Amino acid sequence: MGEAEAEEVFPFDLNPMYEGERVRKSNMYVELGGMNKPGFELVLFEPDPDKVHDNEVTLIGPDLEEMEEGGTYAFGMIYKVYGEKIEKDLEAVIERRNHEYQSYIQGYMHLNQRAEIWVRISKEAVKKGLKSLKQIAKATIMLFKSELPFIEKMEAIYITDEDEVKKQLEEAMKIYEARDMKTRGLHDEDVDEFYQCTLCQSFAPTNVCVVTPDRVALCGAMSWFDSRAAARVDPEGPNAPIPKGECIDPIGGEYTGVNEAAVKLSGGEYDSIKLHAFLEKPHTSCGCFEVAGFYIPEVDGIGWIHRGSKVSETPIGLPFSTIAGSVGGGKQVKGFLGIGIQYFYSSKFIQYDGGWRRVVWMASDLKERVKDAIPEEMMDKIATEKEATDIESLREFLQRVDHPVVKGVIREADGTKITEGWGTAEKIEEAAAGTEAPETAMPPPVISGEEEIPQDLIRAIMANAGGMGSSPPIKIVLKDAKISIGKVILSKKE
Ligand code: SF4
Repeated sequence: MGEAEAEEVFPFDLNPMYEGERVRKSNMYVELGGMNKPGFELVLFEPDPDKVHDNEVTLIGPDLEEMEEGGTYAFGMIYKVYGEKIEKDLEAVIERRNHEYQSYIQGYMHLNQRAEIWVRISKEAVKKGLKSLKQIAKATIMLFKSELPFIEKMEAIYITDEDEVKKQLEEAMKIYEARDMKTRGLHDEDVDEFYQCTLCQSFAPTNVCVVTPDRVALCGAMSWFDSRAAARVDPEGPNAPIPKGECIDPIGGEYTGVNEAAVKLSGGEYDSIKLHAFLEKPHTSCGCFEVAGFYIPEVDGIGWIHRGSKVSETPIGLPFSTIAGSVGGGKQVKGFLGIGIQYFYSSKFIQYDGGWRRVVWMASDLKERVKDAIPEEMMDKIATEKEATDIESLREFLQRVDHPVVKGVIREADGTKITEGWGTAEKIEEAAAGTEAPETAMPPPVISGEEEIPQDLIRAIMANAGGMGSSPPIKIVLKDAKISIGKVILSKKE
């Protein structure tokens, strides 16, 4: 779309070059959804064309002009769509594109998906004449219809009334759940093709998203069925089939076809990915993951915390926001992994690294949310912030409950392979007694502060150090700090 045409109608530019634009707190006119207010986005297919009022926008609740500058508000976006070629399977696909098209709007930041959406509108956008969320909705509809011509009619209902957002969110959650249930029961070995998604390469150019029946997209918004539907209806779009090729490692989930795709999609940055591993050749993570996993070398186990968790700190001393900075960026970061919530339900969940028997800690609200995915024998062995707030209390807890990592785990996966585990009771006990640290032990970085903390710096340092499992150990302490660093030189300690 030409800029001139966009400016004629809207007081803001519409251009893919604004993808990735961030609106910082200091430059924010208002925030919608995010960590502090409920929010969601939902696309609903309507088979009766008369029930979709094309290009119509309804707003329920206060508009931009009635909002207080600097304020945070609830936000729901519902789109009704009709098209002869559209089927129910495409709802999730169209919904995921809301992120892409809204990112074309200058001065408007859209992050995440489903019930995690986080929107900020900049002060400049308002100064330039943005007065109403209806303008945003109209621009979004226009982009959808010009980019996806199979959408014949589209209507938007935006909601900022908090009670109404909460009410509609409950309904949306049921729809998300029904979509998620569809892929259970289908496995990687049942299909010939996986699907790539390059939608987030505008933010993370080396990101390689591979969606398989056993590994839902890390953003949680695209299942294997959704990706297949997207590839069929929009072959020029971000989703395309990846022929599986030969299976090199059934436990790790390594396929020649995926490795070839990794080279092509990452521009040669990566040449292999194990779909079901945490520590070795892990799947890359862009910035949209629903859950972040982190390796805890002192106990040789893995912890998990999700976006939107009410838990402020993990046993490694980092909140979600800081861990997210280490996970993201389209990198393979050893020691960190981003996943979609549904991956917890996969029978291949990080099976290369021991699956649930390697999980030592979860934020309590996450553990509660996925409790029906946790094997019964592991339920009481996984600590939350109620049992363990630091490494010391985590060690004590794991020893008390005789967690598999204490003695070392014998790995069994899919009944096809048994591999010796890791860690020994002696190592853990020695470490607990303070006599000798486990070989793999490395103090994790301790960082606190807000979003202004230079995440790129942390990522660069971690990447240069080869991830959490390498030496020499690095400890970074940034407390309530705003730091600007021109150059960092890292040299190995002899
Ligand atoms: S996280 Fe991956 S699957 Fe989800 S939209 Fe981004 S690239 Fe696609």
